[in-house]
Amino acid sequence: MNLFYTLTNFIIGTCLASHAAVICERINTTDFIFSRSRCNYCHFELALLDEIPLLSFLYLKGHCRYCQQKIPVELFLFELIGGFAFEHIDFNQSRDLATTILLFSIFLVAISDYRQKEFDLILLTPAITITLLCHHFTAFNLFDWFILFFFSSILGWYVFKQKLGLGDLFIYLILAIYFDPTSANQILLIASVLLIITYIVENNPKDYSYPFIPFILLGLIIKQWLLD
Ligand SMILES: [Zn+2]
Repeated sequence: MNLFYTLTNFIIGTCLASHAAVICERINTTDFIFSRSRCNYCHFELALLDEIPLLSFLYLKGHCRYCQQKIPVELFLFELIGGFAFEHIDFNQSRDLATTILLFSIFLVAISDYRQKEFDLILLTPAITITLLCHHFTAFNLFDWFILFFFSSILGWYVFKQKLGLGDLFIYLILAIYFDPTSANQILLIASVLLIITYIVENNPKDYSYPFIPFILLGLIIKQWLLD
């Protein structure tokens, strides 16, 4: 039963991530949620078998079935990360359903930030709404309030100095208010460590600016796996 639960959640996660990638791609089109996917190159409408998360990519060896153009490997990675991201969700619990919406919204922002190094604030609206509806303010103690104020001020200063995007501050506040400030700090710490490792491994120029929200998403997933 446990294996079934794990596998089902993994599959749901890959589907949600796959859909998030499609939404980010077509955010400015008229029907970006329900219209069928097309190949980015030949614009051929994809069949259901071409859209199975992870498996279609592997079966088609990362190429479009119709024009043989390469499908970006990042799509496979998004789906794989999605599989792990929703692994701890109990879809019978209302709080976890709210977490799903929040995670999906952060997924949208992370994909958009990864691709364009910016994102449309509308992608974060579901997460902001869920945070306002399911906030933990009443459970905050004095220490929580201090942490929230202290770290928000530090991040706010970096935003003011244009060393950090406003979106990063928004995501921090969302995590701190929906979960708690200590969890948000742990997520930020993991994200920063991952960013430093990426910087060392990739050896990009010093002034190269990395999108931070994908690292925050990874930090959130790793925290769920290791610390919860
Ligand atoms: Zn094609």
